[in-house]
Amino acid sequence: MAALPLFDAYPRLAGALPRVALAQYPTPVQRMEQLESALNCGARIFVKRDDLSSNLYGGNKPRKLEFLLGKALQDKRRTVLTFGAAGSNHTLATAIFARQLGLHPIVMLVPQPNARYVRKNLLASRTVDAELHYSGSMPGVAANTLRVLAGRVLREGRLPMVIAPGGTSALGVVGYVNAAFELRRQIEAGDLPEPDRVYVAAGTMGTATGLLLGFQAAGLKSQIVAVRVTDPSLTSMSTARRFFRKTGVLLHAAEPAFPLGAFPDNAFQFREEFYGGEYARYTEEGMRAVRLVHDAEGLALEGTYTGKAFAALLADADAARGKTLLFWDTYNSRDFTNDVKDVDYHTLPKPLHRYFEEDVQPLDRVGD
Ligand SMILES: *Cc1c(COP(=O)(O)O)cnc(C)c1O
Repeated sequence: MAALPLFDAYPRLAGALPRVALAQYPTPVQRMEQLESALNCGARIFVKRDDLSSNLYGGNKPRKLEFLLGKALQDKRRTVLTFGAAGSNHTLATAIFARQLGLHPIVMLVPQPNARYVRKNLLASRTVDAELHYSGSMPGVAANTLRVLAGRVLREGRLPMVIAPGGTSALGVVGYVNAAFELRRQIEAGDLPEPDRVYVAAGTMGTATGLLLGFQAAGLKSQIVAVRVTDPSLTSMSTARRFFRKTGVLLHAAEPAFPLGAFPDNAFQFREEFYGGEYARYTEEGMRAVRLVHDAEGLALEGTYTGKAFAALLADADAARGKTLLFWDTYNSRDFTNDVKDVDYHTLPKPLHRYFEEDVQPLDRVGD
């Protein structure tokens, strides 16, 4: 297996960081020519296909989980516990890859607006026998988590590894520092010109921040446009600064040649106007972007993350004549409809049944 581009640049990191290979690299870069014609705006538009990052479950989570689950194995944990909203892509990805590595996945869920993907993700969690807990509030999650952790210590004699929401920790973010070096290699190979701007959905901000740190270290000049899709208490400039520093410190400590630079304000644009007021609440602009990309390129985005991020790219496209824009596709595109079609939602914890018994939100109709 070829070394990660980050490890090629800083060989000492390979020995210093825990990692288990989960993903297939490099993910392709493609030009969106049909979309360019449809928009007729004179910008070159490319997409980085992280939706294809793994055959098991793609999107942006495998890059982080390679390091996080690598650490779980290194520490000889038997169980991992993580958090998310009811339809979380992160908790599903964690459950799938943990199971594959022989670890028991525990997932602490909180409410979110209903959508068809919520149902699909919940059923898929059942197929890997994830242990699901659902709480109606944040204090509820905290109390439940303590109870579940204590139960595990009694049974296994050791604590589960707790993985942060979105997989965003100093270590998880390294996956996207590597992704920046992977992109540089694709630029050097002529797959695309160096982008003027890179658009990415920002939840816990691990993806955007890892790219920012990686671009700085790799000498890429592209500006990151991070499009906020979750609550400001989770997604903010201070979150970006914090993880930029933490991951930088981690890498610099493991390999002093890794540069510890200042937060590059000019290379980071934080966009908040596409949020729509609530996490996972679809917006008209976001769903228009989903339809446009689907009709022009056959690529499946969604309303919670990537549709909102692509809406930002569309809003900028008219003023981007002659520029190169790269959209970083963070959504899994592996279709698991067949795996879940025989799973009965009644096998889920009872409070989760509401996602199957209540209507989905009105804007969730693309692809019907
Ligand atoms: C988790 C997720 C994100 C957000 O990534 P962060 O690193 O948490 O900012 C973006 N897009 C999709 C599809 C996701 O599942």
